[in-house]
Amino acid sequence: MQKLFFILLAMLSLTATPARATLNVFACEPEWGALVQELGGDKVTVYNATQALQDVHHVQAKPSLIARARTANLMVCTGMELEIGWLPMVLRQAGNPEVQPGKPGYFEAGNYVRRLEIPARLDRADGDVHAQGNPHIQTDPRNIGRVGDALAQRLAEIDPANAAFYQARHHDFAQRWQDAIKRWEAQAAPLKGVAIVVQHKAFPYLQEWLGLREVATLEPKPGVEPTVAHLAQVRQQAANSHPRMVIRAAYNSARPAEWLSTEAKLPIVVLPFTVGGTPEAKDLTALFDDTVARLLVPLK
Ligand SMILES: [Zn+2]
Repeated sequence: MQKLFFILLAMLSLTATPARATLNVFACEPEWGALVQELGGDKVTVYNATQALQDVHHVQAKPSLIARARTANLMVCTGMELEIGWLPMVLRQAGNPEVQPGKPGYFEAGNYVRRLEIPARLDRADGDVHAQGNPHIQTDPRNIGRVGDALAQRLAEIDPANAAFYQARHHDFAQRWQDAIKRWEAQAAPLKGVAIVVQHKAFPYLQEWLGLREVATLEPKPGVEPTVAHLAQVRQQAANSHPRMVIRAAYNSARPAEWLSTEAKLPIVVLPFTVGGTPEAKDLTALFDDTVARLLVPLK
């Protein structure tokens, strides 16, 4: 009944206002592009600024990105300084007043989640530490749900003629998402308390969600390649704490995880990290289907 109401509202608003072109959405990362597509359907045209197998910490402010930002109606980015190396320059060069920080056309997903790993102190010597906390929030589907709530409202705000349309799609998405989270949590129950080694600190939100225990990190500091001395230390930690797997994101270089895998006889789990990171992770639902399935393999 509620659905029918929204459909009627959407039809009304369609006849009441002249048809406009679709909203141009500039998504800084593929997970937000996928989320906008879920909520916006055929009312949005999504451009993903980065690809799944790209290192999202190191992006160039290319002319193609500036051109896309110039015609965007909405930027959807993680924030939390993840894009600090390229987005400010892209926004400045694009000169598009609609999408500057503080405007409704600028949306930061990180504002709608509880942040983890906010550093107690800031020191360049600690590597690529993010002052506002770990920005890899998309690895917990509950965060995707929270961001989706806020993003649906934002779409309605900047495109009021289609507000009911976005509301209806959000209602449908939120329902499917809640059901999916229950399913993933049931499937992932055996992972609770399991010790893992990670290559980069890319998964604190995933770990918190599923109760995985990080016992060592292959990168001595975020974004810094492991040294021989550090690897020896990780091997010792692995020997002491009996991890079941070493995890890396699909975009990470394969070598550090392979080294530890050989040294400590640990299976490697490559996680998609975002939509498109593996052939299976075609959309947001498949991203978590695949993540949970891959984590369970070493337990079999
Ligand atoms: Zn990172």
